[in-house]
Amino acid sequence: MKKIKRKGFTLIELMIVISIIGVLAAIAIPNFRSAREKSNQRACYANQKTVLGALEMYNLDNGDNATIATLGGFQKLVEGKYMQSAPDDPGCKSATTDPAQGSGNYQSNADGDVWCAFHGTVDGKCVGTGCVGDGAAQCGGGS
Ligand SMILES: [Zn+2]
Repeated sequence: MKKIKRKGFTLIELMIVISIIGVLAAIAIPNFRSAREKSNQRACYANQKTVLGALEMYNLDNGDNATIATLGGFQKLVEGKYMQSAPDDPGCKSATTDPAQGSGNYQSNADGDVWCAFHGTVDGKCVGTGCVGDGAAQCGGGS
């Protein structure tokens, strides 16, 4: 009688391989997510420094002490070539973004502090209301 040759894997072998892949994915996915959030935060801090520089140049040129709110957004800064375009908060773009206003998360005050309503400030101190430090901020949607 001819012996039947077995081809392929048994169910147990397949289940072991699939469970190993599942464990590896469970370890890797949270790391990818936190790395993505951290990179968005760093990009937001870079935007805040750009906004601060543009505001300082605008105020020097105009003898003013303007903030984002008193300028009514970034339109004057963009038109005056102080910045190339209104910044969008990375990872936290609102669904109703006006190109002249950016994502609307960036705010500043007359003391020269610039912060993001979602990511807070570069130095970790929380200025104003709704920053991430007080737990009240929610990303406005988008990605
Ligand atoms: Zn931000």
